[in-house]
Amino acid sequence: MTFATLGLIEPLLRALETLGYQTPTPVQTQAIPAVLAGRDLMAAAQTGTGKTAGFALPLLQLLAMEGPKVSANSVRALILVPTRELAEQVHEAVRQYAENLPLSTYAVYGGVSINPQMMKLRKGVDLLVATPGRLLDLFRQNALKFNQLQTLVLDEADRMLDLGFSEELGNIYRVLPKKRQTLLFSATFSDAIRLLAGQMLNDPLSIEVSPRNVAANTVKQWVVTVDKKRKPELFIHLMRKGKWKQVLVFAKTRNGVDALVEKLQGLGINADGIHGDKPQATRQRALDRFKASEVQILVATDVAARGLDIEDLPLVVNFDLPIVAEDYIHRIGRTGRAGATGQAISLVCADEVNQLSAIEMLTRQTLTRQMEQDFEPEHRVPDTDASGQVVKKPKKPKKPKTSSGGKRNLGKWVESGDASAPEPSIKPVRKVPVFNTGPRKRKP
Ligand code: AMP
Repeated sequence: MTFATLGLIEPLLRALETLGYQTPTPVQTQAIPAVLAGRDLMAAAQTGTGKTAGFALPLLQLLAMEGPKVSANSVRALILVPTRELAEQVHEAVRQYAENLPLSTYAVYGGVSINPQMMKLRKGVDLLVATPGRLLDLFRQNALKFNQLQTLVLDEADRMLDLGFSEELGNIYRVLPKKRQTLLFSATFSDAIRLLAGQMLNDPLSIEVSPRNVAANTVKQWVVTVDKKRKPELFIHLMRKGKWKQVLVFAKTRNGVDALVEKLQGLGINADGIHGDKPQATRQRALDRFKASEVQILVATDVAARGLDIEDLPLVVNFDLPIVAEDYIHRIGRTGRAGATGQAISLVCADEVNQLSAIEMLTRQTLTRQMEQDFEPEHRVPDTDASGQVVKKPKKPKKPKTSSGGKRNLGKWVESGDASAPEPSIKPVRKVPVFNTGPRKRKP
C-alpha cells in the first residue's frame, strides 16, 4: 500500500516524500479513503499511530479540490484539540503536509494575546486548529464565522471531555452548520465518548487500529514498588544506574513537578518542569529544549505534557501514577511511537494500589513488578491483576477483628494532608454534553 494508491494528490505526495513517510500507517490506510469519500469517522487511534496525517491529508485534499474561496473571518475546516501544545503540534504537521497547496492554515489557543489572532483571522483561514475555549472567545467577538465550515475534526476527544470542555463543545456544536463532515479521534472509547459520537456524527465509519483501550504494545512496561517518601531517591538511583539520557517524567501535581525538578537541579542534573501554572512561553521553551536534547529530564503533569511529540523518546517514567487510568495510555504513548520500541517505568507506592489496579484493568494486563535492592518498600503494595481486583491483603499477623480490622487496605486516591492537588483541569469524572441535535443532512 502506498499513499498514491490511497488517492492522494501529487502536491501531498511530494510533501510526504520530503517528510520521508514511505508507507501509510494502518489508521491512515483506513481513514484517508473514507474521509476523501466524505464519510464521517469515529476512530479509536492513540497518539503515535499517525492519526494526525490520517485526518489532515484527506482534509487538505478536499479543501484544495472543493468548495469556495474562504471569505473574511471564515474558516472551512476546523480541528479542535484539547491543549495549546497539541494545537501547535497538529498545526505544524498540517503546515508541512500543506506545503505545496495554496491553502492558509492557522492555530489559535488561550494563554496568549487574542488580538494578533483576531487580526490573522480577518482574511479568513482555510484550516484552523483551535482549543475550544479560545475558539468560542473569537466567535463571540465576531472574529470568526462558521457559515463556510465543511469539516470538523475532534482530535483527542476523550481528553477534551477529561479537561472539562463538554460545555464548550456543546456551545460550538450549536453554532456550526448542520451539513458538514465530522471526524472524531480518541485514544480511548468510554461510554461518554460513544454518546458524544452518537450526537455529533452521522452514520460514521468506525476505525479501530489498536485493540480497544490497550496500551501501545511496542512499549515495555513495568512497575517498581517503593515507599512514597523514597521515590525521589529511587528515581535518581535508577537514572544513574540506567544511564538515562532523555526521560519524560510524569508527576501528579504542580507541586510534585516543582519539587522533583528542584531536587534534580540541586544535584546538578539538567532538568526542567512544565505544568499549568507556568506561562505558555515558558512551557514551550522547556519542550523545545527537551526536544533539542538540551534538557535531560522533563517533568510534567498530564495537562502540560499533552501533545508532546518527540521522535524516538526511549523512556517515560511515571513518578506518580495518573488519577485517571486512561492517562496512563496517553503517557506511555509518548514512547514507542511510530513502531519504535520504548520503555515505561512506574514508581508505585502502597497508596497508589487502586490506580494501579484501574490501569491494569483498562490495559488488560498485569504489569510486571520489580523491587530495587535497598529500596524495598516498608509499606507493601497489595497484589493486583487485570481483573481489577486488589487480590491480596498485605501480609499482617492475625489480629482479633475490630470494627475496621476486617476491611481491605485499598489505599487512597489522594493523600490526606497533601496540600497539593492534581492539576485542576484534570477531571476524573467526565461530563457529556447534552446537545440539541436536530436532524442533520449528510454531506453530499
Ligand atoms: P501522530 O500519531 O499523528 O501523533 O504521529 C506520530 C508520529 O509519526 C509523528 O511524528 C508523525 O510525523 C509520524 N508519522 C505519521 N505517519 C507516518 C508515516 N506514514 N510514516 C512515517 N512516520 C509517520
